[in-house]
Amino acid sequence: MHRNIKKAVLSLMLAGLVVFQVLPVQAQTQWYDDSDIVRADISYEDMEYVGYDPAYAYTLIEEMRTLSQEPGNEEQINTNYDLMGVELDKMYTQQALNEIRYYRDVNNEEYASIDTELQQIYRDVVDQFLQVVRDVLGTEYRESFGAHIGDEEMVEDYLDYEDMTEELQALLDEENALEQQYDQASMAEYTVTVKGQKWTEASYNEAIEELTWREMLAISTALDRAKNEAICPIFLDLVKNRNARAQIYGYDNYAEYAYTDLYNRDYTIEEIKSVYAAVKEYIVPVLSEVEERVYAGNLNDLLYMDYLTEDYVIEVVGRHMGDIDPALAEVYQYMVDHHLYDIDYDPNKMNVGYTTTLYEYQEPFIFNTPDYSYYDLETMIHEFGHYNEAFHAGTTLITDVTNMDVAEIHSQGLELLYLEYADDVYGEGLGDTARQMVLYQMLYSVIDGCLYDEFQNAVFAADHDMTEEEVNQLFRRLSEEYGYVYYDTEDAAYDWVDVPHTFSSPMYYVSYGTSALAALDIWTIAQEDRQAGIDKYMELTTYGLTTTYCELLEKCGLKSIFEEGTIREIAQAVADYSSALAAGEDTSGRDESFGGYDEDEAFNNSMWERFGNELTDDAIFGSSGLDMIEGFVEMHTYILLGAELLTVITILIIIGVLSSKEKKK
Ligand SMILES: [Zn+2]
Repeated sequence: MHRNIKKAVLSLMLAGLVVFQVLPVQAQTQWYDDSDIVRADISYEDMEYVGYDPAYAYTLIEEMRTLSQEPGNEEQINTNYDLMGVELDKMYTQQALNEIRYYRDVNNEEYASIDTELQQIYRDVVDQFLQVVRDVLGTEYRESFGAHIGDEEMVEDYLDYEDMTEELQALLDEENALEQQYDQASMAEYTVTVKGQKWTEASYNEAIEELTWREMLAISTALDRAKNEAICPIFLDLVKNRNARAQIYGYDNYAEYAYTDLYNRDYTIEEIKSVYAAVKEYIVPVLSEVEERVYAGNLNDLLYMDYLTEDYVIEVVGRHMGDIDPALAEVYQYMVDHHLYDIDYDPNKMNVGYTTTLYEYQEPFIFNTPDYSYYDLETMIHEFGHYNEAFHAGTTLITDVTNMDVAEIHSQGLELLYLEYADDVYGEGLGDTARQMVLYQMLYSVIDGCLYDEFQNAVFAADHDMTEEEVNQLFRRLSEEYGYVYYDTEDAAYDWVDVPHTFSSPMYYVSYGTSALAALDIWTIAQEDRQAGIDKYMELTTYGLTTTYCELLEKCGLKSIFEEGTIREIAQAVADYSSALAAGEDTSGRDESFGGYDEDEAFNNSMWERFGNELTDDAIFGSSGLDMIEGFVEMHTYILLGAELLTVITILIIIGVLSSKEKKK
């Protein structure tokens, strides 16, 4: 569920019937009633990309227009409308199937051009469809047709529809082209020269063991910079393009438009600013505490899990769905039986993870590019949260709604409930480190969600066209406010271009933060009373995505993040749990055979030996970096220093891995 699906204008209600050769699979559980959903019962292997010919859709549309000019055609008009719903689902499903194979083979030009072509067809068909529905509603068929559509609010939306102008069409085409440029530029290989030697990302990673701290810093910064130089201009073009579009829609800028129209948020940009502030004050310090404990754990074993095959991930994650609720296990089994996922490794795959719905079949599908770390497991749990929602939604393309703040509670809430089974899922001896890690990432989602939102807000709302330099400086300043530490002396930051959402779906990222806060609230309930927390989660999932964020929290009795104190309380709950977990490890003793504390100490010591001298070499640090290192020396024991030092080093190594992950959900 990674991108808005170019259909904000279609977020309407309709009881569309899918006329398709299907076997109904009717699920009815304590929580969900799927009796109206007609599922195709088809496996991914049996789905074929056949393309989409819009001729029939245009015929239906033309017929509707002709029929509306004569009396007595109520039934036929309504039938054509339903058939159009089916056509739109077919078209979207073909687009999604092509997208899956394109993401599997991101350099495939044929798939890329089909993607472009289908998006153009899609926009034109949708435009013609919306025009004809609006026009028919303007005739004597207003009452019968409106009654058939069923929802008066939706009828009003149809009536408000304005034709796609050439100007808008051109802007949308340009946006799509720029997004593709970004996809390619982000996958491209960059070569930099540092002290006379040429480096690529690959040769840098290969040589990393042999490099000094100083060399690592120089090379990785140069690589980030080269990528930024290629991508930043694309970003600035996208900002111009999107602001122009937002102004056509009647908004000051794209951020305002996206908050209201695209993501259906029931809070404003003004209101979220109080969340930015609370996150900087309360979440940022807890993150660094939890981070320390992550590095004190079995981090290496968590990051290198070469045994994580597709089958292994599917099995070990599936094993505990029923422990949460049988309703989840049932959907998981359906997904497995129909092989509705693509999570194996291939070097040509796009680095994304997402869940999409193949509407024609009423079957969701999970795509992920694994990297053989704990993150493959976490992503499977995360995406399955989306999967379960999409499975029960029963929406068609016309009725689907975009509501990311709520969607990510489904996924992150499940991740947190899964911490209970961390010893089994992540492996023996790794449970506690995985728990700290998932919490760490949850806090990271909150921080990065706010950071990227504040960043994008500032760029879209700027009173002039920002330059590349200004954008990089802005990101540096904001990221430092959110606790990021840099060990160079520059005044700009470059690696923000690695977050694809900034390019494919701006203003989306904050949803990870708002949802993580809600998910953490559910998790704190589960800490007190496991079943109560599970029930709260399951109750929340029954609302699907049809209820807006603040309203949903209220309905489920969860705390409002816009109220004074909520974020502070959540931060405190995580801090307490994390420190108790760490303390528990000390008192109950850990399984030393899995690389316990001693081994980490040795590892930390060796890191200190490797980099300690260089770290005290003031030539490579700005004064603040050096002060910080000196601060560590005063404040921490040798072992803790080792852990902090690891933090420093891993900002280049492990954090690089982590942050590249957060992008992909
Ligand atoms: Zn997600």
